[in-house]
Amino acid sequence: MQTIVAVALLGSLVSSARAEPATVQLGDQIFLAEHLNRGGRIGTQAASGLTEYRGAKWAQGILSIRFAEDIDDARRAIFLKACAAWSRAGNIRCLEGSPEEEALTVNLGAPGECNATVGHHPGYNAVRLGEGCWTLGIIAHELGHVLGLIHEHQRASRVPELDRDAYITINWDNIEDNPIARGAFSKMKSLLLPSEATAYDFGSIMHYHPQGFSRGGGPTFSPTPGHEEEFGRAGRSWWCSKPGCLLSALDKKAAAFLYGPPAAASASAR
Ligand SMILES: [Zn+2]
Repeated sequence: MQTIVAVALLGSLVSSARAEPATVQLGDQIFLAEHLNRGGRIGTQAASGLTEYRGAKWAQGILSIRFAEDIDDARRAIFLKACAAWSRAGNIRCLEGSPEEEALTVNLGAPGECNATVGHHPGYNAVRLGEGCWTLGIIAHELGHVLGLIHEHQRASRVPELDRDAYITINWDNIEDNPIARGAFSKMKSLLLPSEATAYDFGSIMHYHPQGFSRGGGPTFSPTPGHEEEFGRAGRSWWCSKPGCLLSALDKKAAAFLYGPPAAASASAR
């Protein structure tokens, strides 16, 4: 199982080939460059300065989906199932059949390639999922990015209890030596979802597993004293195969914070 994620994350080294608009890839997150206020140096244990993410949400929580033609029905179904999990957490809907320029395009990636644009990008929204990425957990993680969520293990806050450094220590020597891998562990502050909105959550679908981007197999992060037990939850939901274990309670809270409470049950039951 760990191999799948390692391969999946390695695959995300395949960066977006599009020249426009300018993007920055950090781990499996593809940011519109203009959504990042760069502070300090990405991919280092910066002593000062933080990168801020100031992205945009999807209007009315509607994700217009356009599947590439080579994506079969089984994969379309699992993608929509992952999206339904988010729909039960916030006022979010995945709808097929919109014009391409407005849509989130879902493409087959290279083997192991899983990545997604973060938040709403005008005219360019894409998820790439290669072999090994078509699991409910990984798709839910990528959809979290599409909705505007950044990695939990990158969380930065002026409030020490809400900052990732209170919970994990990054083992920089164990992380692959390339900017995409190391950028997945830089501290970032989201202006879209303030850190005060939710407590730190090892069980979040947006938290990496400690083998992610590891070189040599050593853990890329370790728990700080007192958090060893919670640490075991890191990245576990990536292997969840049922909607009920996919999103943590705080993932659901984040979805409702960004998009409002889920639509009435009568709407989803139609
Ligand atoms: Zn990610």
